[in-house]
Amino acid sequence: MYSLLCPNLIYNSLHDLEYNHLKSRGIKGIIFDLDNTIIPWDSQEMSPEIIAWLNTLLAEGFKICFLSNNMGKRVKSIATIFNAPFVSRAYKPAKKGFRQAIATMELSPNQVAVIGDQLFTDILGGNRLGLVTIWVKPLSAKEFIGTKITRRLEKLAVGLLKTKGLLK
Ligand SMILES: [Mg+2]
Repeated sequence: MYSLLCPNLIYNSLHDLEYNHLKSRGIKGIIFDLDNTIIPWDSQEMSPEIIAWLNTLLAEGFKICFLSNNMGKRVKSIATIFNAPFVSRAYKPAKKGFRQAIATMELSPNQVAVIGDQLFTDILGGNRLGLVTIWVKPLSAKEFIGTKITRRLEKLAVGLLKTKGLLK
């Protein structure tokens, strides 16, 4: 059970991610969380560096899909920049949204990675479907009130994973 909360890879920043490593693991598509993963929760604009980084992934041949619990309008405005598919109001960690995201990329679960800032939504959901799960530090300290509550549980979970030797 605990292992379902355990990410396969952990990075301080998206920019630390080596996409060649993902390629070597057979990853062809990446599901992206939106809020605090590629855009600060309280912001409407992505940084030019992250836009450039995502465009590099696309140029390298990766498919991408945005998967967010947030509302359609916000998710669509980001997805449109990259002409990429999206799933909004996804109720992560529910499997349904992840399955939809995988289907839009026309890939199978073992070809897909998910990148997100929350263990209880992005990582748990991705692990339930056997995706490569990548945990990144949140972009902003400001968060949705519900997220602030789950962050406390996340801290407890991280402590537990560490004592069980599942997380370094
Ligand atoms: Mg997030």
